[in-house]
Amino acid sequence: MFCEIVERRAPAYIVYEDTATLAFLDIFPFTRGHLLVVPKRHGARLTDLPWDDQMALIRTLDELCRRAERLAPDYNLALNAGARAGQVVFHVHFHIIPRYGEANPFRATARPALTESDAKALVAELSSP
Ligand code: AMP
Repeated sequence: MFCEIVERRAPAYIVYEDTATLAFLDIFPFTRGHLLVVPKRHGARLTDLPWDDQMALIRTLDELCRRAERLAPDYNLALNAGARAGQVVFHVHFHIIPRYGEANPFRATARPALTESDAKALVAELSSP
């Protein structure tokens, strides 16, 4: 599914792109500004990727964590590997989840869909280097 976003066959609110990686807003954010950082090369889990792609992903994570700090200084950085670890989309992705002091945002019931107006505001805020 994320290959379709990489290839622009599916829409996404993209905030960063380079030759090896892409970052975009999660459509069911746990918190405002929840980001996904993905490799362009398909792999289900991190260890499926060649080392160069893993390194490229880490570089992009560094950049996007810095940008996420514009929203809130604290955040969770997470990767779910495998169904029993909660992975639903089997294309490697790191979550960057800004934290604003809420108690526990990680409940399935508390995930309103991303709105277009908020997405546009976040893209404006997070797209610049
Ligand atoms: P995981 O449980 O780690 O596999 O997380 C998958 C994440 O992808 C979830 O947080 C979903 O809300 C998110 N997601 C699924 N489809 C899309 C999409 N088309 N665009 C943006 N985020 C998505």
